[in-house]
Amino acid sequence: MVAHARETEGVPEARVRLVGISKRFGTVQALSGLTLSVQAGEILVLLGPSGCGKTTALRIVAGLEHPDEGWVELAGQVVAGPRWVPPEARGVGMVFQEPSLFPHLTVLQNVAFGLRGMSRAERLRRAHEILDRVGAGELAGRFPHELSGGEQQRVALARALAPRPSVVLLDEPLSSLDPELRRRMREELRRLLKVEGSTAIVVTHDQEEAFALADRIGVLSRGRLWQVGPPEEIYHAPACRFVADFVGEADFLPGRVRDHVARTELGDFPCNGLPEGALVEVMVRPADLAVEPDADGPAMVVGRRFRGPETLYEVRLASGRVVRCRVSGDAGLKLGTRVRVRATTPRVVVFPAEAGEPG
Ligand code: ATP
Repeated sequence: MVAHARETEGVPEARVRLVGISKRFGTVQALSGLTLSVQAGEILVLLGPSGCGKTTALRIVAGLEHPDEGWVELAGQVVAGPRWVPPEARGVGMVFQEPSLFPHLTVLQNVAFGLRGMSRAERLRRAHEILDRVGAGELAGRFPHELSGGEQQRVALARALAPRPSVVLLDEPLSSLDPELRRRMREELRRLLKVEGSTAIVVTHDQEEAFALADRIGVLSRGRLWQVGPPEEIYHAPACRFVADFVGEADFLPGRVRDHVARTELGDFPCNGLPEGALVEVMVRPADLAVEPDADGPAMVVGRRFRGPETLYEVRLASGRVVRCRVSGDAGLKLGTRVRVRATTPRVVVFPAEAGEPG
């Protein structure tokens, strides 16, 4: 504990701190040394593939699981680890994948249910206020079975936010919605959390959702946190190949450092700080590459995915490596067309070839 405390000296006090959290279920190491802070009013999104430990991390913050190692602090107070504060005393609100409303209570009663230490009039005023904020004011008198999935989600959210929890934890809160509604609700959810001034940890495996919601994203894989930072940093400056690949589309060109640049099949790229002769992998995103028809070109179109406003071409380079190129609109290139591929941005990320990977 002392070592961790020293490492974080000088950092402003976080609303939530997880320090060195590990958790094992039988032979599965669900979390390994997870250290993470969330500031007051911040939305932190935990992003990662299925089974990477996201829900376990939330459950540990909520007090629904005990960590094997490490500790959790809420507003500077240890609540798990050397000291244990039960879930109901943590002031944490939770919204789960499935909105589990009380079926025999109206929407208003569901939302007012968790409000304590207030007069009846105050409880009703707060319940109406938060229902209006989630756009469900007109549903106050209905029962849960009279609501659509999206409406139930809004009510579940209102119920979690009504008592103004110090922290709200959301586990794939939009996953039961159809794609269109899900996209709309993302924007609304972020707006609502900001209006309420909530400190939130949101779990998702959906990268677009993470980008839309997050102030910062923490990328998890196999129980480990690989990077935490603002969405732009995670996208443009991924810390390792796993993050680059998981967060957006990326291809990797093998290369070698010569005269301080990474030399690859698609040209030379700056690669500060890597030693001469080092083997590297250069990350290129589809938008970083331009493709032009060229009868003598060394590459060939081998795939085409029409996406409406853009087209994604898969192009096989002379080496046999396939890269993806994004074209605005449609370049009209047929499969088998000979082409030339050019990197259009010097803003690429170069990894040492033997970088550690979560796999
Ligand atoms: P998903 O996105 O699929 O919900 P996740 O990232 O939230 O996944 P967790 O639910 O945290 O992942 O699970 C992490 C690992 O721990 C998984 O391999 C899971 O099977 C295992 N696990 C979680 N809870 C338990 C439990 N109570 N008993 C046994 N294994 C568990």
